[in-house]
Amino acid sequence: MLDLQDGATGADAAMAIGPGLARAALAITVNGEQRDLDRPLDDGAEIGIITERSDEALELLRHDTAHVLAAAILDLYPGTKIAIGPPIEHGFYYDFQFPEGVVLNDGDFAAIEAKMQEHVKADEHFEREDVSVETALERFRAEEQPYKVELIEDLVKNAPADAPVETVSLYTNGPFTDLCRGPHGPGTKRIGAFKLQSIAGAYWRGDSDRQQLVRIYGTAFFKKKELTAHLERLELARQRDHRKLGRELGLYHFSEAAPGSAFWTPSGTRIFNELVALSREMGDDRGYTEVKTPQLFDASLWKTSGHWDKYRDDMFLTSTGDAGTAADEHRGVEANMAFKPMNCPGHYELFRQTRWSWRDMPVRFSEPGLLHRNELSGALHGLMRVRQFCQDDAHLFVMEDQIQDEVTGCLEFAKATYDLFGFDAADFTYELSTRPENRLGSDEMWDRAEGDLRTALENNDLPYVVHEGDGAFYGPKIDIQFRDSLGRSWQLGTVQIDYQAPERFDLVYTGADNSDHRPVVLHRALLGSYERFIGILLEHTGGELPFWLQPAHVALLTVSDRHADAAHAIAKELKQAGLRVVVDGRTETVGRKIRETELSKVPLMAVIGDQEAEGHTLTLRHHGGREEPASPVADVAATLGAAVQDRTALGTPEPAAD
Ligand SMILES: [Zn+2]
Ligand SMILES: [Zn+2]
Repeated sequence: MLDLQDGATGADAAMAIGPGLARAALAITVNGEQRDLDRPLDDGAEIGIITERSDEALELLRHDTAHVLAAAILDLYPGTKIAIGPPIEHGFYYDFQFPEGVVLNDGDFAAIEAKMQEHVKADEHFEREDVSVETALERFRAEEQPYKVELIEDLVKNAPADAPVETVSLYTNGPFTDLCRGPHGPGTKRIGAFKLQSIAGAYWRGDSDRQQLVRIYGTAFFKKKELTAHLERLELARQRDHRKLGRELGLYHFSEAAPGSAFWTPSGTRIFNELVALSREMGDDRGYTEVKTPQLFDASLWKTSGHWDKYRDDMFLTSTGDAGTAADEHRGVEANMAFKPMNCPGHYELFRQTRWSWRDMPVRFSEPGLLHRNELSGALHGLMRVRQFCQDDAHLFVMEDQIQDEVTGCLEFAKATYDLFGFDAADFTYELSTRPENRLGSDEMWDRAEGDLRTALENNDLPYVVHEGDGAFYGPKIDIQFRDSLGRSWQLGTVQIDYQAPERFDLVYTGADNSDHRPVVLHRALLGSYERFIGILLEHTGGELPFWLQPAHVALLTVSDRHADAAHAIAKELKQAGLRVVVDGRTETVGRKIRETELSKVPLMAVIGDQEAEGHTLTLRHHGGREEPASPVADVAATLGAAVQDRTALGTPEPAAD
């Protein structure tokens, strides 16, 4: 509890706590709301000090920087109309309408940054004024800033009747004044490092009928080294873009011939099939049975599932019509079929066709089914957002008292799967989403289901966070988030309890009491879609996939034509051990073959010359250059074959005995 004089400000409060804090302070929170340091405090308010270390600090700093950018733009391009300039994730932007004839490109950034730097060096104070609407309108009309005028007029117009807008706040730093809600840091000098990054077009208010503006993006940090690290991360992300890597490694491509659907090359297909095989094999060990359900379903199924009403726009519809041609739609024939966007309803339909007893439960159906979703073309993004994909999807039909064990099993399955990719357990976050406001079923049911999920997490020793109220209306769920090597978060797995589907599809099993009971459905995916997972994995590893997943494990490079037979004989032996081998028998120099193999990221290569051909040995060279001692082909085949079979990483070799 601080005792402060009347009219004391946030800065006074920080000073009362300590001079160190006063220096570190950027702004304060008053009853949870952010305020400038120099605004007077209310009595009895609960305050917090925002410093560089606070979560909100960067957002505040970037908002400050957006104002500095606008100031610099007005210095350099008088007559520019300014629109809005908010902080965004990882940075900020400001929208401008430049005077007639001014065309900006990123070559102008250096001059703008230099001008911004002057404003930063001058340590301009951010001065807040609360002025009447009339004063503010007069001011911006006089300055010929029509966007600011429109913003104020709209504020007034859209205010609720019981809380009319009579004043607005302005912030001034140096020569520049902006309409702004605030808050801001104390002065521009706190902007330790900033950078302008790109230019884009943006319509005023996002409305394509209105003026097209120029949006300048930038970012800012407190420290130069933080900015440098951020820019390096961006550069790494650019180099590791899976669309670029997919092309370089020859894995897949996209074409206007099928927007939003990947064309997988033989190498890419290998990777894809390896992942499907992994899910199949691990599922087999855990009592899953694979099924195949149709691609195209009658509308009646989608009406039962609720998709026809709620999800129709996202599905690809078609019609059998009378003639059953695509032209039917144009002739006004109504769609009566749809491609599946998910496997669930097909599995329910399949489950219904058997008379299940409690002894059969749980029933675990898995299906790497082909799915289609009608994503907008603007939303498509490489493998991350596609129209056609395939998930490691499964549905478990369980009795109420089996939920806990089955979810425990799903989480074990997830962990065992992730381990094979060499992911670090610390990079996973397990999120438990609990009952929402609007929900199906009784409180007892939710208590039990949420309790089961908690216990399943604890059974697997998994720390988790709880998202209260974020569950679906039909049941709680666990989502599994993965943080990649570039610090980005991706949802990989999910386990969802569903009490609604069994009702809608009238799913039953015969209980020990000989009467019908409803099962509970668990929706479960661990990798998510294989497409997206491959994209994530490529960006996470920069294309250096786990050894077992590589489209080719070993490349054999011949020294000359006369070594071709020996190379093929060795390749055959390695293939018999389960390895994927490529032979480079071109009449190129060995040096060139080595360089090209390096670029293709094949994890191991070996040169086949006289010595290897005669001695039937291999000297393996790892991607990156490390060499192993020469070994008999049979030994190499056994060691590497086991690594692929067990899906283990390649061990570091034993140091050579002297
Ligand atoms: Zn502002
Ligand atoms: Zn499902």
